[in-house]
Amino acid sequence: MAALGGRAAVTLLLRRGPPPGLGPGPRRYRYKEKWATVAPRIPPTRLALHHFDMNYSLQLKDLWPSVRASLLCEQKYGALVNNFSPVDHVTQELELLNATDFVSEAPKKAQQSQRGTATEEAGREESRSGEGRTVMQAETMTQAETSPPLRASISPNIKCYTFPRGDITRFRPARPDTLGLLNYYLMDAASLLPVLALNVQPDEFVLDLCAAPGGKTLALLQTGVCGHLAANDVSISRTKRLYQILHSYVPKEIRKIVSVTSCDGRDWGQLEGGTFHKVLVDVPCTTDRHSVMEQENNIFHKRRTKERQMLPMLQLQLLMAGILATKPGGEVVYSTCSLSPLQNEYVIERAVEIAETQFNISIHVEDLSHFRTLFQDTFFFFSDCRLGELVLPHLTANFGPMYFCKLRRM
Ligand code: SAM
Repeated sequence: MAALGGRAAVTLLLRRGPPPGLGPGPRRYRYKEKWATVAPRIPPTRLALHHFDMNYSLQLKDLWPSVRASLLCEQKYGALVNNFSPVDHVTQELELLNATDFVSEAPKKAQQSQRGTATEEAGREESRSGEGRTVMQAETMTQAETSPPLRASISPNIKCYTFPRGDITRFRPARPDTLGLLNYYLMDAASLLPVLALNVQPDEFVLDLCAAPGGKTLALLQTGVCGHLAANDVSISRTKRLYQILHSYVPKEIRKIVSVTSCDGRDWGQLEGGTFHKVLVDVPCTTDRHSVMEQENNIFHKRRTKERQMLPMLQLQLLMAGILATKPGGEVVYSTCSLSPLQNEYVIERAVEIAETQFNISIHVEDLSHFRTLFQDTFFFFSDCRLGELVLPHLTANFGPMYFCKLRRM
């Protein structure tokens, strides 16, 4: 011991415990406790991956290995064009890079593919029945071209550029225009789908119940038609980021239609019940991509186990508040960035049941399958989702996960 320096001696003492007769050794206990809290043995990302392996392999079966690999690879972004900044220059610049606006391209591509299917079907019919083929062929094609949801449900003002499938080029950071507003906002392009599903109409009152940091709030404003937009988030620090986004992208006169609050969204139904035409409930969830990639702020950290287990309950309460905040006839879109059916379909089913039994509100779950037809070239959709739609991460289209489901209050 005499040969050891001071710090080494203390370390040895702490490792071995105090010499006999020097007391029970509370310092040793304190040292161990601190060590245990700062250095968890299994990092939360590993716990998350283990949890997902157990659950998603059952849910997604053969698809899971590819979804898993995609979650662990760099995700793709979309550039949401800021309509409040001069758009011509930025859209030209993005098109020169070979990016395309997946929103405006979608109906055209879907119609082309429907026309192809219709022609194939008509061809098969023709070979079966011979005569009368041209009339049938023409009728099928006209139906495909005018199919109402394909045209009616997409806001013509939202523009979001993505690189083609398999192209993993990154967008440059956005630049400010002469008035200081940034020209585009980089986001997971699949995050736009819940906003598109909400399909805001002119002068409607819209509530974004869990709004921060504000990507979807900004997208809602890009429709250019909101009569009033209430953007709420319980977290004060995240609400500050929402303010920053509004200031960086939205001119003062447009910001007047936005009211920002930091309430617990679960109380919203009691505060302002039945007042909104459209409500977006983009709930906190296990943020699957973040959970397998980042140690920081990870919901799979051991000390957050209880919080994680309580997520479906919080999600259900927030969705119920969203339903109660909606006018009769109004619509709610519920979304998560998780693959978990417990946080997705089960929450929807439970909310529909509670609305009916406890509030005498009947809810219709809307069919969003036309989104699959529309956006099949950009996103990889799960074909077995019982309610709503789910975008699966894919190596050639590494967006999502994004679950979204639309409810109408009858
Ligand atoms: N919609 C946001 C966007 O597109 O940028 C992302 C929302 S994030 C998935 C979920 C948000 O819910 C978090 O910002 C979190 O602070 C918020 N949140 C959690 N509990 C809440 C509650 N009880 N009421 C309102 N917001 C809540």
